[in-house]
Amino acid sequence: MSLDRISLAQPTLDGNERKYVLDCLDTNWISSIGKYIGAFEERFADFCGVEHAIATNNGTTALHLAVVGMGVEPGDEILVPTLTYIATANVVRYCGAVPVFVDSSPNALNIDPEQLAQHVTDRTRGVIPVHLYGQPADMRKISEFCKENGLWSVEDAAEAHGAGIEGKRVGGWGHCATFSFFGNKIITTGEGGIVTTDDPELAQQLRLLRGQGMDPDRRYWFPVIGYNYRMTNIQAAIGLAQLETIDRAIEARSEIASWYDEFLCPLGDEITTVADPPWAQSVVWVYNVFLRDGGETERDAAMAGLDELGIETRPVFYPMHVLPPYREEATYPHAERWARSGITLPTHQGLSRLDVERVARSLEQTLRNR
Ligand SMILES: *Cc1c(COP(=O)(O)O)cnc(C)c1O
Repeated sequence: MSLDRISLAQPTLDGNERKYVLDCLDTNWISSIGKYIGAFEERFADFCGVEHAIATNNGTTALHLAVVGMGVEPGDEILVPTLTYIATANVVRYCGAVPVFVDSSPNALNIDPEQLAQHVTDRTRGVIPVHLYGQPADMRKISEFCKENGLWSVEDAAEAHGAGIEGKRVGGWGHCATFSFFGNKIITTGEGGIVTTDDPELAQQLRLLRGQGMDPDRRYWFPVIGYNYRMTNIQAAIGLAQLETIDRAIEARSEIASWYDEFLCPLGDEITTVADPPWAQSVVWVYNVFLRDGGETERDAAMAGLDELGIETRPVFYPMHVLPPYREEATYPHAERWARSGITLPTHQGLSRLDVERVARSLEQTLRNR
């Protein structure tokens, strides 16, 4: 008997998505003007508990816009975690600036606040902490550090919609924050992104930069060089519908995580997971397991074994400092350990308890057959 493949990720579009998209088509508002853009921005700002949200065409452009808004210039140094998705480092490079990598914490994947100070020089301007896989970075310590050193912070919250720290949601901790709405994120607009901030002047500047730099009061007058990073009304229409059901999306993913916890319990000697710090209200973007011993070869073999059993997985991100554009001699032992031992398991709203059990049993079978 052959079982259906279990995919790593898939969007859930079971609310008003179709209705709102058809409304865009029926009314001819398919480009980057239309009622859904403002409605989506307002609702997302409310969701994060911030004053302003500026929607963009993807999460990378949101992050690029944010660092441009922070005034990053060639030669500036920006502290970023080495363990992240490459967009975090790339947007710094887009500005001609230098991403300076910082190791993960010993007990969490996120940037270690205790290691920030050792990387500061007179060219350091800011920090981009990433709330990796839905677990918030410790913004209390990072904000304090930034204040003491005259630095800004931009949260890369691409993977952490709805996560919080001591009850206050991510997106409102840094000078600004960015989110992604790619198809595999917690909510999606197909491709899409957004910047959130409480700073009205920054919000205004980001709107200007997003729309080619055109003066809002004088058409075809461009006081600055901007970008076309606009979100379309169709994307925003999908996003608004997704926001209407985001609580359910977050709830479903944490339920999947609790099923994984339950079914993977017998594998406690072989694998571990990252614990949630007591001050954090994490969300589950994806569920990761880490092999207790063995390196990349064993990890890749386990993934191949799962693939044969019809389970799609992927490796935890490679640290930036091992990738060709950012290769360094320096070692970042915690990030390297997480990266070489980590497997991302299927995590999406369409998974049943039975699916999760099958993934867990397949992992058990794969590891026991080594
Ligand atoms: C997804 C992601 C991005 C980029 O978002 P896109 O919408 O894919 O451009 C940036 N940072 C992190 C940490 C991400 O996971």
